[in-house]
Amino acid sequence: MEHHTDVIIVGGGVIGSSVAYNLLQDGFEGEITIFEKDKTYEFASTPRSAGGIRQLFTSAINVQISRYSLQKYLTFPEDMAIGLEKAEIDFQQRGYLFLAKDNQMEYLRKQHVVQTRNGVPAELLSKNELQAIIPELHINDLVGGLYCAEDGYLDPYSVMQGYIRKAKQLGANYVYEEVDAICKEKGSVSGVKLRNGDLYHAPIVLNCAGAWAPAISGTVGISIPVEPLKRQIIQFDFAKPLENDLPLTVDPSGVYFRHEGSSVIAGYSEKVKPGIDFKWSREFFYETLWPVLAHRIPNFEKAKIKSGWAGIYSMNTIDQNAIIGSHPQLKGYYLACGFSGHGMQQAPAVGKGLSELIRTQKYETLDLNQLSIERFSTNKLITEGAIV
Ligand SMILES: Cc1cc2nc3c(=O)[nH]c(=O)nc-3n(C[C@H](O)[C@H](O)[C@H](O)COP(=O)(O)OP(=O)(O)OC[C@H]3O[C@@H](n4cnc5c(N)ncnc54)[C@H](O)[C@@H]3O)c2cc1C
Repeated sequence: MEHHTDVIIVGGGVIGSSVAYNLLQDGFEGEITIFEKDKTYEFASTPRSAGGIRQLFTSAINVQISRYSLQKYLTFPEDMAIGLEKAEIDFQQRGYLFLAKDNQMEYLRKQHVVQTRNGVPAELLSKNELQAIIPELHINDLVGGLYCAEDGYLDPYSVMQGYIRKAKQLGANYVYEEVDAICKEKGSVSGVKLRNGDLYHAPIVLNCAGAWAPAISGTVGISIPVEPLKRQIIQFDFAKPLENDLPLTVDPSGVYFRHEGSSVIAGYSEKVKPGIDFKWSREFFYETLWPVLAHRIPNFEKAKIKSGWAGIYSMNTIDQNAIIGSHPQLKGYYLACGFSGHGMQQAPAVGKGLSELIRTQKYETLDLNQLSIERFSTNKLITEGAIV
């Protein structure tokens, strides 16, 4: 079967669905077809994310993207409401906190300059001030921290569903089929071929396939510096409740943790071989997470694993930042991938930016040109020091 449509989006996760929503909300009149291979989203990165939302980045572009997105998440329930039903996303503004040891504080001070210059209400805290936020925190080996009270965490699955429902209401056409290949004709993208053999023709194809983005890009002969990388999260209960709700806290070791209901979830960017792998292990908790957690918060010494999972980062192997915009070698081919560990907090801004680029051929709200794939050939990399 052959079909014609105006815009094709490969991948209906948070990024693809935000692009579809923004295009339609901004008045795009053509037909948008989103292909999603898994209607349950079992293995997509979005529902497996920790949902951390922070403005505490070190590059101005990432700070600006997060600031825009945070504002959008504050009004998300109303903006994405369907009739009287609000799109609740459980955004808990409990803060984001980086803890520092030894010379790490100097580095946080430098970050603080970039953040405050860009309007972020970031605060440098002494080690004693940290205990006002987490009274149980073990501070003997710390020198201080960097905190932003506006930040926090949300429920990624609900965000994605909010975008999907609203995009559908505005007219987006979700097709639950796998794209086998992107097609081209004389230097322009021409559509996609599905695994079931159907052909969809369109002058614009966006690659929002997350961890599968490099594979699908390879079908049209374009390689992108992204690889899938496993990340584990473990949820655990502990005996003695904490006095306050936790901010999303990043220990100097890189282990991060936050409340999830009355339990805590924790993760760490361990060294692993690239590839799609969803195995998680209790050993990861006992050997890697727990020693750090129990040292940092004595209440975590008695911990019982409740559940765990592994999800996949679409890791940009060159500078760990998103790759956004049109591809110079193939007219009509757009990328939105390589988000590494920060795609949730970038989804609203990226959707808005790509809507503008596709409709008007330029960015209007935020200039995302720095994130184009051309930065690799011109060696204008994004230097981001706060990768979690
Ligand atoms: C453990 C973990 C923790 C994280 N923590 C955070 C955090 O705290 N804060 C933050 O901002 N970000 C975090 N992230 C990153 C964030 O989750 C991702 O950057 C974001 O979800 C990426 O969204 P996406 O839509 O690009 O990818 P996905 O959600 O993976 O969506 C891509 C979709 O494309 C579909 N697809 C792929 N190939 C095809 C094809 N050929 N045909 C049709 N469909 C296809 C897939 O089925 C999938 O549903 C975390 C990620 C992980 C794994």
